[in-house]
Amino acid sequence: MKCPNCSYLRKSEDIAAKWQCPECGIAYNKFQTRTMDLKTKNHDYIRTNENAAKIKSSYNKTLLSIGLLLVIIGLSNAQIIQFICAVLISISILVFARDMLITEYCIGQFNRLVRKEDSPFMYKFEVICAYGLAAWSLFLGIKCVF
Ligand SMILES: [Zn+2]
Repeated sequence: MKCPNCSYLRKSEDIAAKWQCPECGIAYNKFQTRTMDLKTKNHDYIRTNENAAKIKSSYNKTLLSIGLLLVIIGLSNAQIIQFICAVLISISILVFARDMLITEYCIGQFNRLVRKEDSPFMYKFEVICAYGLAAWSLFLGIKCVF
């Protein structure tokens, strides 16, 4: 038996238990399970990585468009322009909320990506906040016209 951890080849005179490597002391089958776990995790990560990239770029786009629209609102005196910008802000937040639902990721503290399954409360909170903000922006837009 060759140890999957340290590659020590078991000799017949070795006195350690049969399930255990005499050299490094690891349990043969435990080590195999652990490497299997790591492989599955890694696979999961690669699978969700596409989503991670997607939500990150969606987040950056949303911030950029909100920033630009806020500048236009600040510069413009025309109510109709302000209204259109507020509607566009609302739409970009809605798109971001939709992307959060699709990718099952949200943006945590310091721009860190957070998976829904790792922090379900934070995820739900952010999705609800996004919808709330979108509604609020729409409400402000309507208010400045009427
Ligand atoms: Zn070993």
